[in-house]
Amino acid sequence: MIAEQKPLTYKDYSTPVHINWCPACGDFGIVTAIQKALAKLQIPPHRVAMFSGIGCSGKTPHYINAYGFHTLHGRVVPNASGGRLANRDLTVIAVGGDGDGYGIGSGYFVNAGRRNLNFTYLVFDNGVYGLTKGQAAPTLARGMKTKSMPEPAIQDSLNPIALAIGSGYTFVARGYALDQSGDVLANLIAEAIQHEGSSFVDILQTCPTYNDLMTVKWFNEKPQGNSRLYQLTEEGYEGVVKDVSNPDEIIAKKAQAVGKSYEWGDRVPLGIFYQARLRTYEEELEGRLPNYGTAPLIDWDVAHRDVSKLLGALR
Ligand code: SF4
Ligand code: MG
Repeated sequence: MIAEQKPLTYKDYSTPVHINWCPACGDFGIVTAIQKALAKLQIPPHRVAMFSGIGCSGKTPHYINAYGFHTLHGRVVPNASGGRLANRDLTVIAVGGDGDGYGIGSGYFVNAGRRNLNFTYLVFDNGVYGLTKGQAAPTLARGMKTKSMPEPAIQDSLNPIALAIGSGYTFVARGYALDQSGDVLANLIAEAIQHEGSSFVDILQTCPTYNDLMTVKWFNEKPQGNSRLYQLTEEGYEGVVKDVSNPDEIIAKKAQAVGKSYEWGDRVPLGIFYQARLRTYEEELEGRLPNYGTAPLIDWDVAHRDVSKLLGALR
């Protein structure tokens, strides 16, 4: 008799590794949200592969019970893409910081959007390079000066949501690491994982050690009586493209989403800015690589392939 399996809970995705982030770091909220999202979707740990870059966020795979690969600075996206291409049976989640993904990793970030491979990229966005003592990262606006900087930032910040939409990501969202209910971010991450195509979530994350501007207090303030953080859906915004066969609808939704992404300051929108079920990279490959759809690449007998035709063509 086969024993009935208990449903997985978020605790099934935790590891005994000591978490050495600073006390009250927003990263704790993100790890819990990832674990809750995986439990919500009931994806067994051996079917999940976590990839990370370098930075405080880079430690995340050590804290999640799944396959883990702590890669190089800025290189999380190509490694995660390779993992997904090699084994499409895996749920692939890439994590990294804003410095890692939008600075040194920006070329990879952009081109992953164009590819629309089915994976999820979560960026822990705290405006600073936390691991290297709080220098200004690409999302810190010109003129801002955190307690870790001797002078204000002298470069403009980039807009991750607009950049992701322009690059071709087909699920583009923003979350907040420390939402009070605890499940809003988990649900958003679950939606990102379920989306077929490249999903991107910019997660606003507090860094109490170096960023004294974007604090929990700042995020929870109510300038002019309205909550600074609000869900797009609360105000009637709908990010999903309904008819993906209509290019005009796709372009109109992208334009609307980019416009919305520039709302920042007294009001900061959260949730899905843009989502469209478009052709994935895997679906492109199915028509080009024989057997691609039948088994993951790792199961192919590549050692005994007949390459004589290829060699003949090179003669
Ligand atoms: Fe978190 Fe900032 Fe500490 Fe890094 S430096 S662990 S981001 S609080
Ligand atoms: Mg950072």
